[in-house]
Amino acid sequence: MPGIYTAALLTSLLAIAGFGTLIGKWRQPARGRLLLAAVLISLPLQPLAFYLLRLPLDHWLAAWLTRKSFTYQCLASLYAPLTEEPAKLLVLLVPAIFRDIRPENFVRYALAIGLGFALGEMAFIAERVSHQPALAKLPFYQFGGYISERLMTCVFHSAFVAIALSRLRRRLWLGLLGATAAHWAANFPLSLMAWNVGGLGRTTWEVIVGLWLIVLLIAAVVLLIHYTSTRQSLPRLLYGLRHCPACSTDFEPSILAINFGTERYEKCPCCRKWLWTKRSIS
Ligand SMILES: [Zn+2]
Repeated sequence: MPGIYTAALLTSLLAIAGFGTLIGKWRQPARGRLLLAAVLISLPLQPLAFYLLRLPLDHWLAAWLTRKSFTYQCLASLYAPLTEEPAKLLVLLVPAIFRDIRPENFVRYALAIGLGFALGEMAFIAERVSHQPALAKLPFYQFGGYISERLMTCVFHSAFVAIALSRLRRRLWLGLLGATAAHWAANFPLSLMAWNVGGLGRTTWEVIVGLWLIVLLIAAVVLLIHYTSTRQSLPRLLYGLRHCPACSTDFEPSILAINFGTERYEKCPCCRKWLWTKRSIS
C-alpha cells in the first residue's frame, strides 16, 4: 500500500477521534442521527464537485484562454471556493436536516459538514498523490505536511460553511457569498506562491504560507467561537467578565484596553478609573 494511503487513514482516524468528540460534546442541541447523516452526506461532496464541476469548467476555460494566460490563472484560483462552498450546501436538501439547523446549533452542523467534507478531500488528495511516481514510493511518515495540513482543513471547511449557515434563513446567498470570499482569501497566498510573486523563491513563500495557515487557523477558531455564543461579545469570550480592584464591580471587558497575560489595563465603567483588572471569579 502506498505510504500516502497509510497517512490518509491515520489522518482520517485522528480527525474522526478529535472532531467527532468535539461534535458529540458540543453543548448546542441537535439530533444526533441527523448530525451523523450530515457527516456521511458530506463525505463524497468534494470529489463530486471536482469531477462534475471543476474539471469540465477547467477544460472549457483552458480551451478558451490557454493555460498560460494570466486571466486563466486568476480564474483558476476561484475554482475551489466557487465549486466547494455551494457543494457543501447540498446537505440542506435533506428536509429533516434543514429543519433541524437553527441559530442555536448551526455551528455544530458546520463542524459536522466540515468534517465530512474534509475527510472526503483527504481520500481524494491521497488518491491523486498515489499516481505520482516520485511521491507514491515515500513511506507514510514522510507525509507529515499532509497530515497537519489536512487536520487544519477540517477547521477551515467548518468555518467557511458556518459563514453560509449563519444566514440560513435570512438571505442565504449572502452567507454563501461570504463563505466563498473567505475560502478564496484563505487560498490566495497559495496562488501567490505558485506565481512566485516578487521573485521571493519557493522557500520564502513556503514560510509565508506556513505562517498564513497559523493566522487562518486562529481566525477560524475565533469565528466558530464567536458564532457559538451569539449573546456574548468577542472580548467577553476571550477575556471573561472583568473585576475592578477599586470598587469591586464586575463588568463587561471593554474593546479599548491593553492586554498583558491574564491582566488588562482598562477603564471601569462604574468608578470610571483606569486600572489593571483580573478575570472575575464569580
Ligand atoms: Zn471600579
